[in-house]
Amino acid sequence: MTSEQNAKKKRKWTTGREIEEGIKRKKKKNKQYQPNYFISLPITNPKITGSVQAVQDAVILKDQRLSKAMVCPGSLHVTMLVMHLSSKEEIGIAVGALSDSKVFVNNLLKGKRVDLSFRGIDHFRNQVGFVSLAENDHTTLLKEIADTMKKIFQEKGIMAGEERAFKPHLTFMKLSKSAELRKEVKKIDSSLFEDFKNHYFGDEILHRFDLCSMFKKKQPNGYYYCESSVVFGKSHEAVVKEALHRETQALLSRLNQIKELLTSPEIRTKISRELFEDRHNSSSKWKSCIDSESPNA
Ligand code: AMP
Repeated sequence: MTSEQNAKKKRKWTTGREIEEGIKRKKKKNKQYQPNYFISLPITNPKITGSVQAVQDAVILKDQRLSKAMVCPGSLHVTMLVMHLSSKEEIGIAVGALSDSKVFVNNLLKGKRVDLSFRGIDHFRNQVGFVSLAENDHTTLLKEIADTMKKIFQEKGIMAGEERAFKPHLTFMKLSKSAELRKEVKKIDSSLFEDFKNHYFGDEILHRFDLCSMFKKKQPNGYYYCESSVVFGKSHEAVVKEALHRETQALLSRLNQIKELLTSPEIRTKISRELFEDRHNSSSKWKSCIDSESPNA
């Protein structure tokens, strides 16, 4: 065998071994890297939850079996990052990474708010049904945030992130929720949600990220078990509460002004006089009406 043939044979063998080892490594990695935690952006706007429920109801009406595939309204979220945490110590590190990411996220936000607009429906390989996010500067910023968080978690030694690109979405149904269902239904028929193809579901302002467990017992409201959270700006509920508080305060202040006016004898006399005149005018008006309608008039 010539030296060139030897080299070729060696190269071929080396390449083959590398591929085999690569596959083995990937298999081992896949076996180890089963995500069990994730960073969630919770959906708190009742308009979105209500619209999602309307789609779910419409789908179930067409195919009752799919009720097992539906995501509970209390657990609706956008997944920012998935990860594997194998011990209490790693959970602690992840809690620290989430807390650290607040500064980096605030630096990206620069005081702006992330307003996510949910519109239309799509699916992943007919296995997962989700509400899409309108593509705009806000989703670009959300992607930057997801990338930054992935780096922060990975730098702390946490197995986080996926090979595929981050595509923000709001899952409302998935066949994997029930092994039983998966045997019966192999694919979600996308015509089931045709009516909602361009439906506007509402906006969600980014106000919180949670580190959630995929498998620990959920909270009574249906939301995931959270190890920790970071808060940005204000929640939808907080904004509504504040607006209500503002309106109530304005009404109370007007009420107090009216009460104060009523303590003045002059005002009371004026009101009594006006009321008396009103009553007198209206009774004479009614009297004239009755008179004019009278067949004897
Ligand atoms: P989630 O909304 O995070 O609960 O994800 C629901 C399902 O969608 C999971 O099984 C994910 O693996 C899958 N999924 C998430 N992102 C993608 C993507 N970009 N392409 C295909 N499947 C995805």
